[in-house]
Amino acid sequence: MAVIVQKFGGTSVGSLERIEAVAEQIVKTKRQGHQVVAVLSAMSGETNRLTKLAKSIDGNPSPRELDMLLASGEQVSIALLSIALIKRGFSAVSLLAHQIGLTTNNRFNKARILNVDNTRMLQELQQGHIVVVAGFQGVDDEGNVTTLGRGGSDTSAVAIATALQAKECQIFTDVDGVYTTDPRIDDNAKKLSHISFDEMLEMASSGAKVLQTRSVEFAGKHKMPLRVLSSFAAGEGTSITFEKEIDKAHPVSAIASHKDEAMIRLVGVQHGATFRDELFSALADADIEIDMVVQTSSSADVNAKLNINFTVHRYDYSVALQLVQTLATRFHIDDVSGDKQLVKVSAIGNGMRSHTGVAASIFSSLHHKNIDIYLISTAEIKISVLVKEQDLHLAVRTLHKKFQLNTII
Ligand code: ADP
Ligand code: ASP
Ligand code: MG
Repeated sequence: MAVIVQKFGGTSVGSLERIEAVAEQIVKTKRQGHQVVAVLSAMSGETNRLTKLAKSIDGNPSPRELDMLLASGEQVSIALLSIALIKRGFSAVSLLAHQIGLTTNNRFNKARILNVDNTRMLQELQQGHIVVVAGFQGVDDEGNVTTLGRGGSDTSAVAIATALQAKECQIFTDVDGVYTTDPRIDDNAKKLSHISFDEMLEMASSGAKVLQTRSVEFAGKHKMPLRVLSSFAAGEGTSITFEKEIDKAHPVSAIASHKDEAMIRLVGVQHGATFRDELFSALADADIEIDMVVQTSSSADVNAKLNINFTVHRYDYSVALQLVQTLATRFHIDDVSGDKQLVKVSAIGNGMRSHTGVAASIFSSLHHKNIDIYLISTAEIKISVLVKEQDLHLAVRTLHKKFQLNTII
């Protein structure tokens, strides 16, 4: 008997009707002879609602207490689903992270999973029970409740599937698979029957929130078969495959976008590494992630002053800017400025390994639509551009069409 892990996101359990529908889905899998572990998110909007509650008391709430609060959302959905399963005559048991030994480090709000103990879950499965686990949460080595960052239930599901050596980890959501781009941005987006892990990882890390980046990393590392499906309609969904196929006809497989970008510009930085070292260490100490970094020099003279531009998540912008301004005064930097209305659009494809001219096509097609590019970064299978927030939809649609993703099968 194979173990199947099925994860249901917020919209999929967003109302009592939806919870009843999810119970039906699980019963169907159980009747096919599988052992089922369901991993659930909080009901849609709940994590936002709880965050707002905390922030209305303190704009910067204690991270430990925030996790204690946020983790409660998943406790509600797992209990409701178990009640719905038991009503249908199936024995179900809901379990919190500490009850299954899902341990994490102690970085509240973005904890990383360290281990999942399969003992309790295997015992329950052997007794014929359906196991319903709270996603998104963990417990650190001092017994504190932690959470895994937004979208973290995907990662809980993959980690649990790995611990149980499940046959497949199925991520049920509100779209019927992974598309060539976010179908909410471009209605010409096409559903992919499969996509490689490399591409999925780049898509997730470039903003395609259908899977949390860490869940894809985890699945890739442990070779856990992953599938994205709809909880609203039957279908095969999209399977994330381990083959590194190079689609010759399409250098680009997908377009992803990330909304909440911000850029900080430093003009006239003295030559040498001291300032740069201090700057990026200070940002790292403040737990601020840097994405794109570009350093330029105004002349070929090795001692010429430098300009440094880099991007951070918009959420971190004001702290980052303040930190940079303090350092800039100490180091006599000519000018510091920033822009927080930016977005990142990325073209992703294994086909880039064997095609040239992708960057040129991106730049010229955006230029033809009068879209300014602020920063560019390139990697083996990804090219990203930073553009104004108001250009997001046009940029995504332009690139989607340019690389003929409208016609992909
Ligand atoms: P859940 O609540 O089930 O975890 P999410 O909202 O986190 O669901 O992820 C699903 C959403 O991801 C979709 O509604 C869709 O708008 C978005 N999305 C972004 N890029 C893609 C893509 N390439 N393919 C499918 N969905 C995408
Ligand atoms: N409930 C959490 C969130 O809204 C975790 C998840 O849905 O995956 O981010
Ligand atoms: Mg999600």
